[in-house]
Amino acid sequence: MRIDLHTHSRASDGTQTPEELIRAAAAAGLDVVALTDHDTSEGWAEAAGTARELGITLVRGMEISTRHNHQGVHLLGYLPDPTYPPLVEGLQRILDGRNSRVPAVIERLRGCGIDISKADVDRVAGDPAATGRPHIADALVDLGVVRDRDEAFARYLSPGRPAYVDRYAAPLVDMIRVVGEAGGVTVIAHAWGRHAPTGMTADDIAALAQAGLSGLEVDHQDHDTRSRKELAGIADDLGLVKTGSSDYHGTGKKNHELGCNTTAPDQFERLVDLADAAAVASGRPVTDVLRP
Ligand code: AMP
Ligand code: ZN
Ligand code: FE
Ligand code: FE
Repeated sequence: MRIDLHTHSRASDGTQTPEELIRAAAAAGLDVVALTDHDTSEGWAEAAGTARELGITLVRGMEISTRHNHQGVHLLGYLPDPTYPPLVEGLQRILDGRNSRVPAVIERLRGCGIDISKADVDRVAGDPAATGRPHIADALVDLGVVRDRDEAFARYLSPGRPAYVDRYAAPLVDMIRVVGEAGGVTVIAHAWGRHAPTGMTADDIAALAQAGLSGLEVDHQDHDTRSRKELAGIADDLGLVKTGSSDYHGTGKKNHELGCNTTAPDQFERLVDLADAAAVASGRPVTDVLRP
């Protein structure tokens, strides 16, 4: 059983459509894949159609942009009812922040002497539900300004670089609660990743477990062997589910191939059982795992 619980499609900043992503997952020998686009469930229906056709198990998920102690935290939400109004409103506020940031970044880039417009971004991005800096990076590649996304971030888009613009992110503890109320479960993505400069302490994570968090993404490319060991220890101490995932973005992120990290079957089943319990407790419609 090969289980990968964190991937992105063109509904956010992956480079493949949901259909192409599910086909790639099947070709990579995965039995279970979660689609976790940033701040949207937009790709779920298309992915479900392909998963049904290919006989691969689909976990409907999302990666929510949150903030905690003045730091960005990516929160994976699995199997929530996507129509739960507080979830819809929370995601919409994040998507509005994403959309209003694009013109601001473009203005900064123009200030750097780069002739780029919103149309250049739209051309490469298509019409994703969640626009992001990677789409602006792709436009810079397309215009011949940089070689790849990494160079665009390093030169212009990362914090401290000239075209960096902050955006709204939802309070982490609120989102853990809202996803739970929607009958879903939550897992902190890449808790000690390169975008979390000082990381979370074991005490921070214990408080989040108290607030309803279900798991930690332990095996992720941003975590070295030592971090993985420490995070696994924290998860075990707190009774949290441990996941492992690729955080695949198609060709948009190097060294994140499908299945490069995987989740153990017993951990996956625990997560699904917790989601079932959350749906029963909330009275929301169950978002079931789509099994062939
Ligand atoms: P945003 O969602 O607009 O805040 O942009 C964050 C996204 O950009 C995340 O999905 C990251 O994976 C991606 N990202 C961050 N840094 C880099 C980088 N150096 N190269 C490529 N992608 C990056
Ligand atoms: Zn991404
Ligand atoms: Fe992330
Ligand atoms: Fe991700």
